[in-house]
Amino acid sequence: MRGTMLYGPRDVRFEERPDPTILDPTDALIRIAAACVCGSDLWPYRGIAPITEPTPMGHEYCGIVEEVGSAVTSIKPGQFVVGSFFASDNTCPNCQSGYQSSCIHRESIGGAQAPLLRVPLADGTLVATPEVPSARVIPSLLTASDVLGTGWFAATAANVKSGATVVVVGDGAVGLLGILSARQMGAERIIAMSRNTLRQKLAREFGATDIVVERGEEGVERIKDMTHGIGADSVLECVGTQEAMMQAIHSTRPGGYVSYVGVPHGVELSGQELFFAHVHLHGGPAPVRHYLPRLIDLVWNGEISPGKVFDLELPLSQVAEGYRAMDERRAIKTLLRP
Ligand SMILES: [Zn+2]
Repeated sequence: MRGTMLYGPRDVRFEERPDPTILDPTDALIRIAAACVCGSDLWPYRGIAPITEPTPMGHEYCGIVEEVGSAVTSIKPGQFVVGSFFASDNTCPNCQSGYQSSCIHRESIGGAQAPLLRVPLADGTLVATPEVPSARVIPSLLTASDVLGTGWFAATAANVKSGATVVVVGDGAVGLLGILSARQMGAERIIAMSRNTLRQKLAREFGATDIVVERGEEGVERIKDMTHGIGADSVLECVGTQEAMMQAIHSTRPGGYVSYVGVPHGVELSGQELFFAHVHLHGGPAPVRHYLPRLIDLVWNGEISPGKVFDLELPLSQVAEGYRAMDERRAIKTLLRP
């Protein structure tokens, strides 16, 4: 098969690779229906998180099970499945408490920007849809694999409740689906921080009630103006930079909640500042597996259409252009079809 490899900064190649095979009896092989480029793929792409050797790319996936190992019992060939970017056994204490992305047997998934993918711990990792879906819903199902699951975790970790005032920092795909998630959880006011008109439009479609274009401390001032000088109940930090993190903490009311789901790069917090901010902090790699059954249901029943975040669709063979378009912010998120 041909698959996507990153060789170094801005050097993405779609090249001949060995077909993945079943290595462990708990593995499954998936025939990919659609894959995509993640915001977190841009960190190594830009050389900010350097790689030491050519690396297979892609960790968001859905498709048809082609083959399973001898120990796999619940997942069957022919099923359409969605899985998370971390494989998990779904039985250990961390999985049972809803933190599958900290599974004691977790393995990271790589190489999903290809026609075939090996998924370890198939029974614990993959969730099957009720039937093989129509082509129209595949993009929305694909978002459940990471970007929607991560937005959902952002809203959950920020304790979004019915009637809450919510701020979302970051207008990338995760931020936008954080808005959708907050709306599903009953937030009354959702303030999106974005200065890009296309993204503002999608933010409103997903449920944002207000838009703030200012950033940093100026952005914080605007949030304070809009919340009687107090700050928001729940703030979702969906970027991973120092500026975004401080903007999030300073926009939150005393007693409020900040979630952080963007992989941090260069973020440092001062103990003094945290002490006096009086906010709850919770974040990390989203336990997507925990939310998959619920998210698949919402998509399957037509209650949400998170697939709208894909504003560029390319054949897998043009994956390099998919990265370029996101790097240059010409695209919010690139969908790749084999
Ligand atoms: Zn586990």
